[in-house]
Amino acid sequence: MPDPVVTDLRRELEKARHTLLGAQSHLASHAEMNAALHCATTVMYSPLHAAVTATIGQIEHALARTESEPQPPVDHTDSELVRVLGDLDRCEHGRHSVDHCYGCPDGQSAGNPFLPVGQQIGYGLHGGTIVVPAPEDRRRPEAWRVKPNTATGGPR
Ligand SMILES: [Zn+2]
Repeated sequence: MPDPVVTDLRRELEKARHTLLGAQSHLASHAEMNAALHCATTVMYSPLHAAVTATIGQIEHALARTESEPQPPVDHTDSELVRVLGDLDRCEHGRHSVDHCYGCPDGQSAGNPFLPVGQQIGYGLHGGTIVVPAPEDRRRPEAWRVKPNTATGGPR
């Protein structure tokens, strides 16, 4: 994502550039009109025209320097994985464990019968275990992990 401050500054520079292009055109027409009026063979552009032209060049240089790189395509894999994890508490009727479900016996979703809260479902890299946390904790990755209990020698 481009920095919003840079985006704002670029927009202001574009406005200044647009205004200066108008001033440059006006000053050039004025100088050309004066040359024609005095039947001069050369047009004498004013120092202000030169300064405006130089400033337009500096603005264009700044705009070129702050042009954002083309962004890589967005990878939705992580958000899809989060959605898969979010679905793991659904009952067979597709309702979350905290929701009402007309298909489950008492009107409350029975949740995923294969993953009850507290069920160990795997091991971490360093010997910890991965367990199913309570529904309200499922968006916290640390709630899925239980560190090995080193005091008792824990799992390795
Ligand atoms: Zn259900």
